[in-house]
Amino acid sequence: MNAVECAGVSKAFGPVQALDAVDLTLATSTLTAVLGPSGCGKTTLLRAVAGFERIDAGTIRVSGQAVAGPGVYLPPERRRVTIVPQEQALFPHLTVAANVGYGVRRGADRDRAITAMLELAGLAGLGDRMPHELSGGQQQRVALARALAPGPTVVLLDEPFGSLDAALRDEIRSEVAGVLRASGATSLLVTHDQEEALSMADTVAVMRSGVIVQHGPPQDVYRRPADLWVANFVGRANVLPGRVAGAGRVETALGTLDVVGGPAAGKVDVVIRPEQLRLDAGAGTATVEDRRYFGHDVVVEVVLAGGERLLVRLPSADPLPVGGAVTVTCREPVLTFPAASAV
Ligand code: ATP
Repeated sequence: MNAVECAGVSKAFGPVQALDAVDLTLATSTLTAVLGPSGCGKTTLLRAVAGFERIDAGTIRVSGQAVAGPGVYLPPERRRVTIVPQEQALFPHLTVAANVGYGVRRGADRDRAITAMLELAGLAGLGDRMPHELSGGQQQRVALARALAPGPTVVLLDEPFGSLDAALRDEIRSEVAGVLRASGATSLLVTHDQEEALSMADTVAVMRSGVIVQHGPPQDVYRRPADLWVANFVGRANVLPGRVAGAGRVETALGTLDVVGGPAAGKVDVVIRPEQLRLDAGAGTATVEDRRYFGHDVVVEVVLAGGERLLVRLPSADPLPVGGAVTVTCREPVLTFPAASAV
């Protein structure tokens, strides 16, 4: 059985259609990221699932039970759904153990449940500390452990890493994903950060203007985006104009390229990821305009003879001088979309 099923869920605030017939299914014990730009409706979707927002149309089911829909509205405390807030609001005057046990019913198993949750969250031995005696990452895990301790079916996380600095964020993301997986909970994470969505989630649901435009495993969303907008939003994309030249081929400023999917004829937009391109130095008609060094790789901006600009991601810092002549080759088949399909 699926943990959450949203079918045709709509919600308007006055003239703003925040959710427009959203269909989204969360398989049990998976982590799904809802990825979309600011204002697309991510938080509204989360609040609707939690019960803090009443929906105008559609149905939301948790573990098969309708919690919102025509004539149905279950309040948040009866949904077995919990939200981990954006800013971790730990109780500063309570110990770590008391924070984690806050929502756990009093009874014989309470202490055991708290100890198990501290262990699961990598906080064993820290139960007697006060929140201010913990690192930022540990505080984040206490907030998560507190949300998980009552045993919710579904955990909702709203941009939980927004306040962390970049170095810490990466480490904590993988820790949090690990704790969520170990707990067996079904999680829905809302983010506008594509790297976060792709690296943490089992499936990514891309949202635009209140609509889920694509939902699938991270590699599908990246390699087979549903449209040009998704291609541009998830990862970097070079877009070149092209014309289909027979089955599986397209003519572009880079020559005739192999195609993995797209229209069978006519003008198209060709999507080429920066890592699909190769540069050969010392000859050719393209020019290196700029290069940005990131340690593990380097992103080079080149201009083709016709003026088209392309980003090329190279694995190491090859000494390609700015202003030098290069040949640009596409190493893999490319995706195409009907021309000017950008939204
Ligand atoms: P962000 O990433 O910036 O948090 P979001 O994708 O979470 O954005 P929502 O907060 O769901 O977006 O908002 C969706 C739309 O609904 C926005 O246009 C927003 O201004 C509007 N909206 C949200 N809540 C309300 C409200 N209570 N009253 C009026 N408009 C609202």
